[in-house]
Amino acid sequence: HAARDEGSVIAWYDSTVSSRLAERLRLAGRIHTAIDSEFQLYFQPICHAADGTPASLEALLRWPQADGSFIPPGEFIQLCEDTGLILALGRWVIREAARAQRQLVDAGWDLPIAVNVSAVQFFNSDLVAEFNRACQEFNLARGALHVELTESSLMRKPAQAKQTMQRLHEQGICISLDDFGTGYSNMSYLQHLPLDILKIDRSFVADVEINPRNASICRALLSLGHSMGLTIIAEGVETPGQQQWLAAHGCDQVQGFLLGRPAPLADVIGRLETEAEAT
Ligand code: C2E
Ligand code: MG
Ligand code: MG
Ligand code: MG
Repeated sequence: HAARDEGSVIAWYDSTVSSRLAERLRLAGRIHTAIDSEFQLYFQPICHAADGTPASLEALLRWPQADGSFIPPGEFIQLCEDTGLILALGRWVIREAARAQRQLVDAGWDLPIAVNVSAVQFFNSDLVAEFNRACQEFNLARGALHVELTESSLMRKPAQAKQTMQRLHEQGICISLDDFGTGYSNMSYLQHLPLDILKIDRSFVADVEINPRNASICRALLSLGHSMGLTIIAEGVETPGQQQWLAAHGCDQVQGFLLGRPAPLADVIGRLETEAEAT
């Protein structure tokens, strides 16, 4: 009896695993053909905390579906990393971000664009060459692109990470540490990396003005980051109260729905123009 039950559990387990695998393979196949034709980059402003004026934009991947919905990056980035598709997709993102930065400058907005780079991409592609090529193709100025990395990228292979970061720096590319506070970085190790910007994860920014625990974490991250000479961006700013608290505590820049939702470049340029006219 027991053996039969066990067998059917295994059979059930097997078929769920294989249908999940089949589903993942189908999605991977769709991503492969979608890279050049279906993916889009959206852009979200990152603004000076003190006065809300724009400092840069972050490029965020969107995969629109026929029914008007989007598959969020959270649902396909991991799959792309697991299958290696992230290398082709990441290359596409770098080139499209460079194209967008050229359009932005041509529209009169000389703002850098920040590009998210995943750990797999960071260690398995020639990032320096890809950025170099994209900047040359669209004739971008030094400093026109930023790179956003996460702690897990940096801690995986510290020596190689540091070397790649230094080479990006030589090209004038600023480096941000994304989702800061959510990983397990060794703080003294971070000091030895050529970082320019820390982005405080939005989980610490939510309720910062009323939640004493988040407030003390943000104060600690601001003080640590500033003692390392870094610019600090708070992510996920949704209310004026959060922005006021952050500005009052010396946070340099803010990003979030309060300042603007991610949108296609033309819409972002339109909003920048409307806001500039209003002030
Ligand atoms: P991230 O780099 O930390 O990007 C910020 C995320 O927070 C974005 O989610 C953005 O839409 C969201 N966000 C911005 N402001 C607010 C706010 O006020 N409230 C809330 N609740 N959320 C806000 P998104 O676009 O879904 O991207 C999720 C993650 O996917 C990104 O996190 C990044 O890790 C990854 N990702 C996005 N685009 C790319 C890409 O081109 N390449 C790679 N490798 N990863 C990407
Ligand atoms: Mg990011
Ligand atoms: Mg982030
Ligand atoms: Mg985040």
